[in-house]
Amino acid sequence: MKISKIETFTDSKFVKGVTLVKITTDTDDIGWGQISPYYSDISSLVLHRQVAPFIIGKDISNLKDLGNLLDIVYDKQHKFPGTFMCRALGGIDTAIWDLHGRLKEKPVCDLIGNCKTKKIRVYGSSMKRQITPKNEVERFKKLVDEYGFTAFKFRIGSEVGRNRDEWEGRTEEIIPLMSKNFQSCDLLVDANSCYTPSKAIEIGKILEANGIIHYEEPCPYWEHEWTKEVTDSLKIDVTGGEQDNSLTIFKKYINEKIVNIIQPDVLYLGGIERTLRVAMYAKQNNMICTPHAANMSLVTIFTLHLLASIENAGPYLEYSIEGEDFYPWQNNIYNDYPKIKDGYLVIENKPGWGIEPNQKWLEQANYQMFDGK
Ligand SMILES: [Mg+2]
Repeated sequence: MKISKIETFTDSKFVKGVTLVKITTDTDDIGWGQISPYYSDISSLVLHRQVAPFIIGKDISNLKDLGNLLDIVYDKQHKFPGTFMCRALGGIDTAIWDLHGRLKEKPVCDLIGNCKTKKIRVYGSSMKRQITPKNEVERFKKLVDEYGFTAFKFRIGSEVGRNRDEWEGRTEEIIPLMSKNFQSCDLLVDANSCYTPSKAIEIGKILEANGIIHYEEPCPYWEHEWTKEVTDSLKIDVTGGEQDNSLTIFKKYINEKIVNIIQPDVLYLGGIERTLRVAMYAKQNNMICTPHAANMSLVTIFTLHLLASIENAGPYLEYSIEGEDFYPWQNNIYNDYPKIKDGYLVIENKPGWGIEPNQKWLEQANYQMFDGK
């Protein structure tokens, strides 16, 4: 069973939107995958120019060979190992998993193996900093009532903010306010690369005093020594890894215990197979893996299946609470996108990812095809 055609469909309206990837084999089997949002048009170009030529005609009968196939592309493009290459690989990888799921009429989590549960707890993940602490509390309360969330992540500091807050005092206000209002919820925060070590530790002590349990990306993520200093100085779990796509860097994170919890993003890292490698390496080194999944594209579904199948999965799946005002591109891409109930997402017994693209969305997309001819 060889790949005979690779088609991509890129959002034509939103530069921040996604690209869907369809692969077809010489046996006329198909699978759908997706490239991460944000400049997916560029990732798609990289897919057609730098990835597809090494994938077309390759035998994908055995999922066990997938890692080698991805590595061959990576080796061939060893001068271009960055995010766009990995995003393109993610589109191919996730389409191959879907194809195998459709063939075997099983959800992907059952192909990964060791699927221990199909019901995964989610945490409501806020992407907003411009929201006042009071309004954020009100928003979370409504979501508890409506969807039964039992965990939330809110934002502190400012994004890559060099110690600046979104506005003065916001972080010091929101932490105790959340703690007071959501005592029965698990509370997580994300600093998005904001702080130097001393400031990160100062804020970390406030988090600990308020019972927050997860401190994400306290320092610029590339400053490993800074992050390690924070991890070593605090009791709270310091977490990170979403921005990285090099397996070597993930090994470093884990070997040197730079963070307490590793957080790969399936689509930034290059797909399920490469993320499984990181999760497995983390497991061998007694580290929990709580992946990053920050929008309602397929990344959340991919991560859902992954969490169901890895032994060192963190206790919850990231589930963005943002709607059309924040992510105008994420609507109507797929049919049958699963909905949360009582704070959980359930994997239905459908083949592959269990989702079909919306025909109307496909019609507006920019189309490209590669068949090697
Ligand atoms: Mg984050």
